[in-house]
This record gives sequence, structure tokens and C-alpha cells, in this order.
Amino acid sequence: MTTPVSTRGETIERCERNDPSTAINESALVPSTSRTSDIVIVSNRLPVHRVNTSTGDAWETSPGGLVSALTPILQKRPSSWIGWAGNAGDAPTPFKHDRITNLPVALSADEVEDFYEGFSNRTLWPLYHDAVRTPEYRRRWWKPYVQVNRRFAQAAANAAAEGGIVWVHDYHLQLVPSMLRELRPDLRLGFFLHIPFPPRELFMQLPWRESILEGLLGADVVGFQTSEGAQNFVHLTRRYTSLSGRRDALQYRGRHVRIDAFPVSIDTQKYESLATTAETQRRAERYRSRLGKSRRIILGVDRLDYTKGIDIRLRAYQDLLRSGRASPNEVALVQVCVPSRERVQEYKELKSHIERLVGEINGEFGELGKTPIHYLHRSLPIDELVALYRAADVMLVTPLRDGMNLVAKEYVATRFDNTGVLVLSEFTGSAKELKSALLVNPHDIDRLADTIRSALDQPADEQSTRMASLRRHIRRFDVYHWAEAFLLTLNDDLY
Ligand code: UDP
Repeated sequence: MTTPVSTRGETIERCERNDPSTAINESALVPSTSRTSDIVIVSNRLPVHRVNTSTGDAWETSPGGLVSALTPILQKRPSSWIGWAGNAGDAPTPFKHDRITNLPVALSADEVEDFYEGFSNRTLWPLYHDAVRTPEYRRRWWKPYVQVNRRFAQAAANAAAEGGIVWVHDYHLQLVPSMLRELRPDLRLGFFLHIPFPPRELFMQLPWRESILEGLLGADVVGFQTSEGAQNFVHLTRRYTSLSGRRDALQYRGRHVRIDAFPVSIDTQKYESLATTAETQRRAERYRSRLGKSRRIILGVDRLDYTKGIDIRLRAYQDLLRSGRASPNEVALVQVCVPSRERVQEYKELKSHIERLVGEINGEFGELGKTPIHYLHRSLPIDELVALYRAADVMLVTPLRDGMNLVAKEYVATRFDNTGVLVLSEFTGSAKELKSALLVNPHDIDRLADTIRSALDQPADEQSTRMASLRRHIRRFDVYHWAEAFLLTLNDDLY
């Protein structure tokens, strides 16, 4: 049932409701530990998920850059990771996995609904993604958000050694830094937001704006994906809190606070190595011949989320087919949609909408044996994904808003021969770094269709120049660089 795929600790699986009880006995929900961890990571999800094996249930490390980047650092010293295990009801007892202590925090079924699906994913998620869907401001979701944040803060306070480091991740846990500072003023506290931080006039809508800003300011270092996000935050905190001082010397309640951009990345070497194996090359060849050797392959890989601009991309492709500027004889679009937040109505509707559109386009332009869109609604394992990246001539990444977008970086990492074209939305964090991609405004369907056509027509020497430049960037700025930069800013004794 659990198949988390994202570095954000995002859950993309259905949440099982195996305990409908709402009565909370706080002390029973927080793992009790002695204060021994020099580093504590706090994220909504644990870095592991449960799998069924022939010998029973076991924990397996979840895929994703965050876990791979932090594991070597955590393994060097006593450390723990605090997070939810993914099922409503009692939490599993604390356990060690890969030399890291996992401290599961419990969420009741009501909290999953109100804290996770409600305030986190129906208030904050759309608000922080430029309100591409209307955020819902329901007063009854706020208390559970505070309550769950307090539980995570208490768990971290119980786990961290005197003077230790606690690094809190993402939008689910924005109150944890200030709560934890009250409980444990001796700690060094970091916070990193994996999704965008919104423009000021949008954030101002949030009825709990002061509490969120003050919550984040509990950290010594508050990190964002882009400098725009960091600037928005500084502006808002100056306005709504007592934060003062120059940008490079900000003061809050007598403490120095560092607010900056730390663009997250991938394990570039891992993707490159996987791309060059004989098995991947064989698999990529197999995909190409199944799709039709003479056809150019366009690829989209996204969680099925309304922020990803999947429908706009399909419309642009439809325009190309309609106008005769592309034909199913010449091109095939492969669209992978990873199931996401399937219990939320908005996501159910999005799925139907995308599937209708795929059906419409395939019905209108398909020929026997020449399907214009190959649609896969599932999560692919990394070896299949890398083979698809290798098979694709053009990668389409067209979110309306995205904190970073790791798929764009992964595609680049696998293009070891400097072939292939990345079409990338200007509204992703990665567009700030991957400037040699074909950058596009995804709201402009005509221009998007033109850009897809130019990508298909891009000469080999231009592909090579652009891709080489993209690759230089992600080789230097990989996820290890990201983790080191953040942790060094937090505590320069660590490395
Ligand atoms: N991913 C995966 N299997 C799939 C599709 C995607 O493992 O079938 C992974 C992909 O490799 C990437 C992550 O999911 O690391 C998606 O991250 P991204 O930042 O692009 O988007 P998010 O889902 O975090 O919004």
C-alpha cells in the first residue's frame, strides 16, 4: 500500500484508516526517547516504508534524494528521524534501520483528514502554489495543524542531545521550529521548505499568517528553494513580526536568523551511472522499438497533481496534431502520471479530466498501431524511469508552479551523451538553474506548442551545447552539495 516516491516526504498512497478513534492521549502518541541524537531530522513521513516480504513485514528505505543525501551524514553520529509511518492510529514502536533511529509519530484518522488532507493539502498546498486552485480556509483544520505540529516538536525535544541539531522539513511542519525553541532553547534549528513560498499578496490571505511566520522564525536558518521565496518571506516577516535588520544580519527576538535559498537537487552520479548500464540501454531500446523505431518520443513524468500542468501540455500536443505540425506517425507522447492524494475530491476530478483528454486525443488522431499518447497511471521503479528518460527525445516539464521539479534534473543527469531536449516551465524552481533548457510559459498554449515543435526540430549540435551546459550545473550542484550547504550554514562544525 505504501509507495512514497518523492524527496519531499510526500505521501502519494492511500492512507489506511485502521483506527477511527479521535481521542488523543498525547504522551502515547509521541515516541519517548532519551536525549541522545546529535542530529534529528523531522519530516511528515519517515524515510522508510513498510513492505511485505516472504518472512513478514519489513521496513525498506524510501527512494528519493533527501534520504540518500542525509543517510551518510546521519550514520556518522547518533541520529534519529521523526515522521509519520503512513497509517492512521497507533504508531509503530521506534526502531533502527540503516543505523538511523526512526521515531514514528502517531496521527489519528481525524488528524489525517484535518491536518494532512485538510490544512496541509487543501489550504497550504494550493496557496503556496500560486493559488492555481482556490485554497480553502477552514477554521476547524487549524487546531489539528497546531496539535500535530506540537507532537512533532515534542518528539524532537525528547530525541535531541544537548546542543544538538534539528532540521525540520516542509509545509506540514511550519510551527515546529518555534514550538521546539520554547521546549529546547539549547538546540540549533533549521527549517527547509521544499515547495514554493508564495508571493506576498497571496500569503497575506492566510488567516493564520502571523502564526506561520512566527513558527518558521523559531529556526536559526530558514531555507527556501529560490531567492524569490526567501525574499517574499523576509518581506512578510518584516511586516507581520518583529524581524529587523539588514538582509545579511536579520534579528528576531534577540537572535540572528539566516534566511536564504538552498535549491534542492538529485543524486546526479546515481542517475548517470544507472543510465549507462547495459540493462538500461537494452530497456530503452526495447521501449523505442515498441513505440515505433522511426517515431520521436516525447515524455512527461509527473505526480497526478493540478500544479503540474499536465492538461495544458496535452492541449498543446493536441494543437500540434490538429494543425498538422505533428502526426502520430512521427511522434509518440508517453505520459506517466503517478497516483497522488487519491482521497481528495480535487485529485479524483483531475484524474477523470486528464483521462478524458487522453481518450479524446487518442480517439481523434490515433491510427491502428500508432497511438498518439501512451498514458501510464502508476509509479515506476527507478530503473524503468531511467530507461524512459533515455528513450525520450524531448522531456516536457510544464508545471504551473513547482518548488523545484526533480524530474527535470533527473532527465538531464541521464543524458550522458548530451542528446535530448528539455522543455521546462519558467514557474519551476529548476528553471532558475537550468537556463539552457527551452524555457516556456505553460499558460501560453500556442507558445508551448511552438516550443515542443522546436524541441523536436532542434539540431544535434544545439542539443549537445545546451545539454552539456545543463549537465555541468547538476553535476556540481547535486543533493550532497545541497545538504552540505544547508548544514554548514546551520553548524560549521559538522563537516
Ligand atoms: N518518480 C518515481 N516514479 C515515477 C515517477 C516519478 O520514482 O513513476 C520520482 C521521480 O524520480 C522524482 C520524484 O518522483 O524523484 C518526483 O519529484 P518532483 O520534484 O519532480 O515532483 P514532486 O512529486 O515532488 O512534486
